[in-house]
Amino acid sequence: MTKVVVRVPTPLRGFAGGQRDVPVEATTAGAAVEALCHEHPALRRHLYGSDGALRRFVSIFLNDDDIRNHEGESTPVRDGDVVSIVPAIAGGSGAARAAPVDAPPLTGEELRRYSRHLLLPEVGLAGQRRLRSARVLIVGTGGLGAPAALYLAAAGVGTLGLVDFDTVDASNLQRQLLYSTADVGRRKLDAARDRLAGLNPGVRVVPHEQRLDSTNALEIVRQYDVVLDGTDNFPTRYLVNDASVLTGVPNVYGSIYRFEGQVSVFDASRGPCYRCLYPEPPPPDLVPSCAEAGVLGVLPGVVGVLQATEAVKLLLGIGEPLIGRLLLYDALAMSFRELKLRKNPECALCSPRATQKGLIDYPAFCGVPAPGAAVPSGVPEIAPKELAAALAAPDPPLLVDVREPEELAISHLPGALPIPKGEIAEHVDELTRARAIVLFCRAGSRSADATKTLLDLGFSNVRSLKGGINGWARDVDPSVPVY
Ligand SMILES: [Zn+2]
Repeated sequence: MTKVVVRVPTPLRGFAGGQRDVPVEATTAGAAVEALCHEHPALRRHLYGSDGALRRFVSIFLNDDDIRNHEGESTPVRDGDVVSIVPAIAGGSGAARAAPVDAPPLTGEELRRYSRHLLLPEVGLAGQRRLRSARVLIVGTGGLGAPAALYLAAAGVGTLGLVDFDTVDASNLQRQLLYSTADVGRRKLDAARDRLAGLNPGVRVVPHEQRLDSTNALEIVRQYDVVLDGTDNFPTRYLVNDASVLTGVPNVYGSIYRFEGQVSVFDASRGPCYRCLYPEPPPPDLVPSCAEAGVLGVLPGVVGVLQATEAVKLLLGIGEPLIGRLLLYDALAMSFRELKLRKNPECALCSPRATQKGLIDYPAFCGVPAPGAAVPSGVPEIAPKELAAALAAPDPPLLVDVREPEELAISHLPGALPIPKGEIAEHVDELTRARAIVLFCRAGSRSADATKTLLDLGFSNVRSLKGGINGWARDVDPSVPVY
């Protein structure tokens, strides 16, 4: 038998006893993953579908190459090989691509502002004018979009389109340096426009205050030279990718999870697209959202600046773009790894035999549910005040807290039984079907999923607390901290 290491990605390490590298003995890449699941059975449903095949949003790499480029799961392994599991995570050219140089020469003020660029032969006067005439669309002005927007504005990219419809929340300030404390409560696009204008008044900021969907994405994306994917959810990520392929505008991809990031450039004319890597998004219960999972504040700064770097290179037509390469950044190990990506000759979107000719809206199944669709349809809810009355009456309902252990230290409700959402199905024996049950989480989304799980398992008297424990704090007990 051959000794290899299976590298488990952070989102799944909880199912592998917290280990990053699990040594196994196997003769093929597929057998190595099987051996891992044999040792840690809880991993199996995350990696394999009910048909026993590997899930389509899970990629397996042998050292730095996708096994799909070799013999798939039958690819033989050698002693010391590393078999990496790379799941999709939510949470962003050549000279021919480069933006054209438009007329007026740089002004005196511009010469001073960009002097450190002008000293680089790879940029120079022509390159700086190219940047000034360039247009970059940043989808999402959160953790990734905020640092990218700052650096692109500073670099003199003439037109920055920003897509967002959120307001600044105090919890954004830990990583989204585009905003200041005084901006809390303001619309993000207003705050961003002011900050970017203060940084560089020569930049035109075009606000797109709307949710990207199948009706508007093509129209918006085609107005730009490069799109920078700063989204935190799968529906928008697939829309950005698909609009990029269909319009021919390259897509600078970035994603983050806790302490890890991914960066690549998807330009279907010269390499793979995101669907070549992950043909379809994962179902919601297998991927925690960025907000639920937490993220180290500096991480999106690193990843967003890497994306900005790739965007500037594409616009200038210099260097080696990250086309066909997936860069993995691990902040805890402080390591960068690079995996090779190849075009999927069967890709439904970008291959010659493509079957997908338009955009797809994925409203229901993503790590972050769409606003207004935060609760799976048909899940019964209870309002905080209604719950307060029920708890004060005879036969109060059983409270089940489906949040993660770290969150219990922030706030809690007395008497609540803690069972993390992902483990609810394994703990049904602790719940009596005779008594009413109310599940709650931070804001109401995870508890709705867990309520649906219990309903599917035959429970009938179960409801989800609307707005979560934060809603309870607002409507019933202001002494409970909101986070
Ligand atoms: Zn493709």
